[in-house]
Amino acid sequence: MSVRHLILDRDGVLNYDAPPGSYIREPAEFRWLPGALEALALLRRAGVRLSVATNQSGVGRGVMSLAQLAAVHARMQEEAGASGAALDAVLYCPHAPAERCPCRKPEPGLITAAIDRSGICPGDTLVVGDDQRDLEAARRAGVAAALVRTGKGRRTEEQMRDNAVPAYDDLLQLARAIAWVSHDHT
Ligand SMILES: [Mg+2]
Ligand SMILES: [Zn+2]
Repeated sequence: MSVRHLILDRDGVLNYDAPPGSYIREPAEFRWLPGALEALALLRRAGVRLSVATNQSGVGRGVMSLAQLAAVHARMQEEAGASGAALDAVLYCPHAPAERCPCRKPEPGLITAAIDRSGICPGDTLVVGDDQRDLEAARRAGVAAALVRTGKGRRTEEQMRDNAVPAYDDLLQLARAIAWVSHDHT
């Protein structure tokens, strides 16, 4: 498989997850996982499009505002850009679970939106997540998925029944594998 587009979960994949039941509400609370920026920069240099697709139900639950979420994402983009790792698209679901929206993962809406916006076919796209919901959203969207063992990833791997989903220790290990393959084709 050649990968031209990654759709990345945010918390637990790019940055340290907030404690259970809480949210990253302030830019200062957004802390990159080790190797994540290096991974994004490597992927960019390999010509891979980078989208983020993240559930942020803290907004719908009234725990944080859309403006706070925008500020967190502005910091994320600023730091990514400074590392040569600018993100092409950041998509989020702000809804609470009770709203039953079509975009909250495991629903596939964010994934299909990221694909539509990219102009890259689903067959060249890979969803990366640490949670079963990410993998399920990919499955419902008809897109391949990979698991990282950061965030909730190790627990997800233990509970995972689908051995067809490859797992990597972190985003950097995955990026190296993808950049290697992509390089062969260019
Ligand atoms: Mg996550
Ligand atoms: Zn939603």
